[in-house]
Amino acid sequence: MLWKSLRGGVHPTDYKSLSNTTPIQRFPMMERLYVSLQQHLGAPATPVVNVGDRVLKGQVLADAQGLISAPVHAPTSGRIASLAEHRAPHPSGLPVLVITLEADGRDQWILRDPIANPFSLPPESICERIGTAGIVGLGGATFPAAVKLNLSLQKGIDTLILNGGECEPYLSCDDRLMRESAKTILRGAQLICHAVQAKHAILGIEDNKPEALAIMTEAANGTGISVKAVPSGYPMGSEKQLIQQLTGIEIPAHSRAADSGILVHNVATAYAVAMAIDQGQPLISRIVTLSGGAVTHPGNWEVPLGTLASEFLNHASGFDMKPARLLMGGPMMGIELPDLHVPIIKGSSAILALTEPEISHQQSSPCVRCSRCVRACPMGLMPLEMAANIRSGDLKRANTLGLSDCVGCGACSYICPSSIPLTHLFNYAKGELILQKKAQQKLEATKILAQRREARMERQARDREALMAARRAAAAKKAAETTDSDPITQEASA
Ligand code: SF4
Ligand code: SF4
Repeated sequence: MLWKSLRGGVHPTDYKSLSNTTPIQRFPMMERLYVSLQQHLGAPATPVVNVGDRVLKGQVLADAQGLISAPVHAPTSGRIASLAEHRAPHPSGLPVLVITLEADGRDQWILRDPIANPFSLPPESICERIGTAGIVGLGGATFPAAVKLNLSLQKGIDTLILNGGECEPYLSCDDRLMRESAKTILRGAQLICHAVQAKHAILGIEDNKPEALAIMTEAANGTGISVKAVPSGYPMGSEKQLIQQLTGIEIPAHSRAADSGILVHNVATAYAVAMAIDQGQPLISRIVTLSGGAVTHPGNWEVPLGTLASEFLNHASGFDMKPARLLMGGPMMGIELPDLHVPIIKGSSAILALTEPEISHQQSSPCVRCSRCVRACPMGLMPLEMAANIRSGDLKRANTLGLSDCVGCGACSYICPSSIPLTHLFNYAKGELILQKKAQQKLEATKILAQRREARMERQARDREALMAARRAAAAKKAAETTDSDPITQEASA
């Protein structure tokens, strides 16, 4: 199998069966929703409502700003109670602006506008609708989908790859969605193909999801979309690994999938696209896995965005025991939560409450140079060397060793016998390099401004001097003319 030739990867216990055996349930609307303006990569959305406004379900609450951004919509009808900072589910832990919406209990929709025959429209119109629906990559990247589609359309895409890998342990939201909404996902895939004019579409599903594989294969019959099993392993769901597995194409370092004519979207994103085009429904809810040893009733729920994670956990399940670690997302790439007072956002694939035996508390010890991290890295990097350079403060050297190609998958940290928090080091270093780059850009911008100011002042001084000289010359000329035309002066001269 191709997997044998695939670089790196690890095989953590998947814990999928904790949550994947029951159907998706609809989570009830809470009285207050906390709709974050930063639910995507890029610039936060700009509020277009005021405190006290009444809004309808699906109404735009905040609009996209700048080139990379996405709007957010009201998950239900109600009244805007506040616009204030709130703790965000983000590694920085910094607060973000959040619109608090008091639900009125009517759940009244705004007038929806489905597109009757989308395949008769130009691709740009589909991209535009996907953008106004606030759809982002729901596999965890949260990159605004319309921006990615527009860039792909410009590049020229041959193949759409639908990512049904879901390789993170515990997560089963995509698995359940594929089992229960196969046709909607495939419809979304066809719409995405139209939006980027892709000729082929392949859906990749890990072979540890036999039910989803069987259902999607049957549903795809006659659609032109091929469904392929890929061997389970971590990080099979990451873009470059899945592309290599399904097409044999290896995306070079520093290159994007689109450069090779390939676009990858998650199955949940395809589902959201179909709902936006066919139902006129913006992204106002998502499927969230609730799991972990501390959770009484693990499973999957469709949760309105803005629901507090604490309310979700308490109403959907409750705890069997005090959790030792709370996570939003999976254990490999998820965000550790200090508590559950954060809202569910577009990227919240899971809320995990793990027990002591499920997490490693080992103290980190010195590197024993076993090179397991090198073998595990799917990007062919040297994690131990990068970490050593970061620790000694040489971020530039770490970068030349390939830090920017690190996808933050966590495979190296998982396998390291010395429990060295390699991925944390890499995330820290990447953040530092971004800050350094921004500081450098700011410095250069200030330097350019100062040079321009100096040049302007010199020019103004020159202009002033020229003006004065011109005035002096004009005055002298006038004086001379006055002397020439004065008869008394002329007589005196005579
Ligand atoms: S796996 Fe850990 S101990 Fe082994 S070489 Fe890598 S960093 Fe060092
Ligand atoms: S986190 Fe980065 S360095 Fe570590 S295995 Fe993944 S890609 Fe490689």
